[in-house]
Amino acid sequence: MARVFRRGWDDRTARYKPACIAGPIDELLRLASQGLRLEHSVIAFTYEGEGGLSNEDREALWNGFGVPVFEQYLDRQNRLLATECDAHSGLHVVAGCSDYALDTEVCGCGNRSPRLSRGSRVEELVELLA
Ligand SMILES: [Zn+2]
Repeated sequence: MARVFRRGWDDRTARYKPACIAGPIDELLRLASQGLRLEHSVIAFTYEGEGGLSNEDREALWNGFGVPVFEQYLDRQNRLLATECDAHSGLHVVAGCSDYALDTEVCGCGNRSPRLSRGSRVEELVELLA
């Protein structure tokens, strides 16, 4: 069952003892240093016009929570555009993303939908910083 805690992590969230948490990278990185252990996974939200999850972010989240990290790419209205699967081989496009070069090879997970490759996300960030 999914539950939304609009104020982010607080005493109520801690009492709930979630097996999985999802949120923006900055909030997750803040929690990663607090010794919180999860059972299932961490879902990091990244947003259109911003860079994707970096390898450093992934490592910090893995070290902090001890569970797999999945990225979900959202637009500014928090609608899902692309989501990372168990194969961790890019993000499967759910909507939009027509401006990106997409990887159309069949993914290791068996899903045939095109994927945003990490490379294009890195290039996107480079373009943002240029
Ligand atoms: Zn896949």
